[in-house]
Amino acid sequence: MGRKIGSRYTANQILGRGSAGTVWLGEGPEGPVAIKLLREDLSSDQELVSRFVQERTALLGLDHPNVVSVRDLVVDGNDLALVMDLVRGTDLRTRLDRERRMAPEAAVAIVADIADGLAAAHAVGVVHRDVKPENVLLDMQGPLGPGGAHPALLTDFGVAKLIDSPRRTRATKIIGTPDYLAPEIVEGLPPRAAVDIYALATVLYELLAGFTPFGGGHPGAVLRRHVTETVVPLPGIPEELWQLLVQCLAKAPASRLRASELAARLREQLPLLAGMPPLDVDEPGAEGGDGYEEAPVSPSASGEAAVPPERVRRGAVPLVPGAKPDSNRDTHTSMRVPGPDELAGGARGTARVPRAAGAPRPGSARNRAMARRRRITLSAAAVALAAAVGVGAWAVTSGDDGGTAPSDTKNSAPGSP
Ligand code: ADP
Repeated sequence: MGRKIGSRYTANQILGRGSAGTVWLGEGPEGPVAIKLLREDLSSDQELVSRFVQERTALLGLDHPNVVSVRDLVVDGNDLALVMDLVRGTDLRTRLDRERRMAPEAAVAIVADIADGLAAAHAVGVVHRDVKPENVLLDMQGPLGPGGAHPALLTDFGVAKLIDSPRRTRATKIIGTPDYLAPEIVEGLPPRAAVDIYALATVLYELLAGFTPFGGGHPGAVLRRHVTETVVPLPGIPEELWQLLVQCLAKAPASRLRASELAARLREQLPLLAGMPPLDVDEPGAEGGDGYEEAPVSPSASGEAAVPPERVRRGAVPLVPGAKPDSNRDTHTSMRVPGPDELAGGARGTARVPRAAGAPRPGSARNRAMARRRRITLSAAAVALAAAVGVGAWAVTSGDDGGTAPSDTKNSAPGSP
């Protein structure tokens, strides 16, 4: 006997657990559904519940083959639930964990699908704000597309915005998943449609490379890289595809493509990518492909390595120095805004560069020397950034919308000319 959710739905079996709650396989009047029951601390937050109800229309109004439709919102006693279309398949993170890197044709087909879904959302003024592989579901019952890719659907629309209320976001915190966070968010600007394009381009890079362009290490270091570092080319990537990635990872939101253009440009490239194997990129610091990396070590005063290299789970981001790494790149991680010392680059504050065969491994003497030089250059930029983030954190909390969905998410935003 399942658990009753409101008067119309029954939750029968857990499909998965996410950062905002648990997703159940359920049954409704029209057949099987997926029911996301929000975490208790979220469902007991009165302000969040009223925002949830207010935004009902925006959430329920999205109907597109590449968007997981929200069919109903249920507020029942202590339960707060989103009733969604059931997607029979897996999420893109699970697939990526299994394959490490995808063939360009399949990767591009999946990202083009998500760009189409985003175009539909942006057209009605909805910004997703948390595009990442965990929020892409692959419909295994759908027809196979280019490169054998199943149709891809974007889920979790509106959840980031709901959780990111001004009261929940105190002045010292910003909200998001660090690896996919656009530079303008780090700088405190309100999230417009172009943040989704940046995040989606980050996902495409990750599907091709096996790692994100600016991820790894302390969240402060990740944020700094989004603002200050340029993306490093992937060996063997076709030039046109690379140019698309570079354009959509542009620091200036207005330089990025719109979602519909991105989808069209990606689809144009599919015939050229047919049959191409996954790129031969060596993950930065990966020894033996066990998903761990060696973090660059802190040099001692004498310039020699004082501490043995640290082993860090790839993509694991400790939220607070010394804390256990976050195991699943949770959504809406409450990140402290990093202090100037962290921004200036700590032991793990070194940018990650895709390593082609023959390049120095992180932790090697040659690489340590290079990393030291880079830290010195970056520290100057980081001092400026520290001031920017300080202002940004204030702007995120005091200048953020906090109100109705569409008003702050217009497609006339920078990046959506
Ligand atoms: P996160 O908060 O990490 O984005 P979710 O809470 O959205 O994760 O989802 C957790 C898991 O539940 C997903 O990894 C997926 O396997 C499953 N899931 C989520 N939504 C659906 C759906 N509409 N249909 C089927 N499975 C789903």
